[in-house]
Amino acid sequence: LESAVRQADRLSSLGALAAGLAHEIKNPLGGIKGAAQLLEMEFPDNEDLREYVRVMLKEVHRVNLIVEELLGLASPGRLKLGKVNLHRVLSDIVLLQKNACEGKELYLQQYFDPSIPPILGDESLLTQLFLNLIKNAMEAVGTGGVVKVTSRVLADYAMTQKGERRARMVAIDISDNGPGIPPDVLKDMFTPFFTTKSQGTGLGLAICQKIVSEHRGMIRVDSDPARGTVFTVMLPLIQ
Ligand code: ADP
Ligand code: MG
Repeated sequence: LESAVRQADRLSSLGALAAGLAHEIKNPLGGIKGAAQLLEMEFPDNEDLREYVRVMLKEVHRVNLIVEELLGLASPGRLKLGKVNLHRVLSDIVLLQKNACEGKELYLQQYFDPSIPPILGDESLLTQLFLNLIKNAMEAVGTGGVVKVTSRVLADYAMTQKGERRARMVAIDISDNGPGIPPDVLKDMFTPFFTTKSQGTGLGLAICQKIVSEHRGMIRVDSDPARGTVFTVMLPLIQ
C-alpha cells in the first residue's frame, strides 16, 4: 500500500510539473504567434516573408499540439464518468474525418451492432482514443484506401489475465488496408515519442493505451502486410 501511495504521489507531482511546464511553454508560444501575425500584416506584399510566417505558425501549432498531448499523458487520470453512446462518438468522428479528407480518395465505413448499450466512460477521452486510431488508419492508407470502424459484443470475455472475473465487453475494431506494421515498429509503437512519420508526435498510441487502461479495457493489434492492420479496443459493458 505504501508503495502505491508513493507512486500516486509521484504521478500527481509529475502531473503538476507537466501542467506548470505546459503553461510556461504556451505563453511564449502565444507571443511568437502574435509577433508572426503582426509581421505578416506589416508586409502583406512580401511573398517570401509570408511563406516564412506560414512555416512559423505551422511549427508553433505543432509545439502546442505536443504540449497538449504530453499534458494529457502526464496528468493523473481523473475520469469524468458518464453513460457514453459509443456509436454516436464513433459516427461523429467518422463524419468529421470524412469532411477533413474531402478530395483525397479514401473510404471510411462504419458497421455497428445496434444491440450495444451505452457504456460507462469518459466521453471526451474515448473520443480522443478513437480519433487517434482512426487518424492513424487514415494516414496509413494510400489512394483508394479503406478504413472500417466496427462494433461487436464479446460475450464472457475474461477481464483479468487470471480470468477471475468474466464480463461482457464491447469490441471496437479500426481496420485499414494499408501496408501493415513491420515487427520493429510493432515492438515500439506504444512508446511515447516513437514515430515513423516526419510530422508525427509519436504520442498518439501512448495516449490511447493510457485511456484504455483507465477504462479497464484492453487494446490489441493484428497486422499483416497483405491485409493491413486492425486495432481492437475492448471495453467493459455495464453489468
Ligand atoms: P504518430 O501517429 O504521431 O506517428 P502514434 O503513436 O499514433 O504516433 O503511432 C506510432 C507509429 O505507429 C506510427 O508512426 C506508425 O509507424 C505506426 N502505426 C500506427 N498505426 C498504424 C497503422 N494503422 N498502420 C501502420 N502503421 C501504424
Ligand atoms: Mg498518431
